[in-house]
Amino acid sequence: MNAPAWIDQHLKNPDAIADEAFLRGLPKAELHLHLEGALEPELMFALAQRNGIELPFASVDAVREAYDFHNLQSFLDIYYRCADVLRTEQDFYDLTWSYLLQCQRQGVVHTEPFFDPQTHTDRGIDIDVVFTGILRALRDGEQQLGISSGLILCFLRHLSEEAALATLDAAKPYVNDLVAVGLDSSEVGHPPLKFEQAFAQARELGLKAVAHAGEEGPAQYIWDAMDGLKVERVDHGVRCTDDPELIKNLIKTQMPLTVCPLSNTRLKVYQHMSEHPILTLLEQGVRVTVNSDDPAFFGGDVMQNYLALAEHLTMTRRQAAWLADHSLTSSFASDAQIAAWRQQMIDYLAQA
Ligand SMILES: [Zn+2]
Repeated sequence: MNAPAWIDQHLKNPDAIADEAFLRGLPKAELHLHLEGALEPELMFALAQRNGIELPFASVDAVREAYDFHNLQSFLDIYYRCADVLRTEQDFYDLTWSYLLQCQRQGVVHTEPFFDPQTHTDRGIDIDVVFTGILRALRDGEQQLGISSGLILCFLRHLSEEAALATLDAAKPYVNDLVAVGLDSSEVGHPPLKFEQAFAQARELGLKAVAHAGEEGPAQYIWDAMDGLKVERVDHGVRCTDDPELIKNLIKTQMPLTVCPLSNTRLKVYQHMSEHPILTLLEQGVRVTVNSDDPAFFGGDVMQNYLALAEHLTMTRRQAAWLADHSLTSSFASDAQIAAWRQQMIDYLAQA
């Protein structure tokens, strides 16, 4: 499939490799970001000190050294441990705010972050503390930084559906502050269909649905997320390359995939970035987007993900603009907002 004609119409040197300045200025959305995964070691230490918590690391450098993962589970084990420094409303505010400042530096104009209430409620933190801290920062982000957002509540899939239903129930006072529910944590052995009832109830509340599927799990999980959970985006979804029928379906339906290239290589879904299929999928006509997943743990924010594609997959300016446009048009923002971003994109390309 060819890139949309308007990109070549407005963009000079569309076949040149995308450079950092071009990538940074591209208006883009981030659609796959776990707030708990944006906890940088420096902030983790500051929060630990503020809350009088002893960390199992001697220094910020020791934390970064510990982030040498061999699969998804080895990452999750350390991830849940680090989240323990988040205790107060101000902690959740500071975490979210530091991520929004990162967005501002990267040309991210809109973000739809995930958070995992169960990671916090299961260790005795009130769900109101989590919600109010995050929501206050998102509102400040919109007012002070001009970054719009839509919050997504994720269920932890290694826990039961009953626990997911209880979480949804506890979140009901905040349903108007959410755009969607999602599904994350350990994928293998925890198929999407385990959560059919929880997702059906969330949809009845007027929420949209997304789910992690086809990262380490099989292509069948992607079908199940679409057919059983009625998702409007698939998070990761890269294992679709194992199933030609699924690829055809993704092209036909234009189902967005929120792909996280650095996360995939750090968790050894691919041994090296040069093996990553994202640009092949893009050229085939699959609606792929670029995202950071857990930037504090995987050595890269969204910009570094775009840069890695330029460096290892010779991503062109045309492909970068196409991916960034996908991120904006696959968001849950209003049609009017998406149309405004398209014009912003055209204006940017014309002068880039
Ligand atoms: Zn993720």
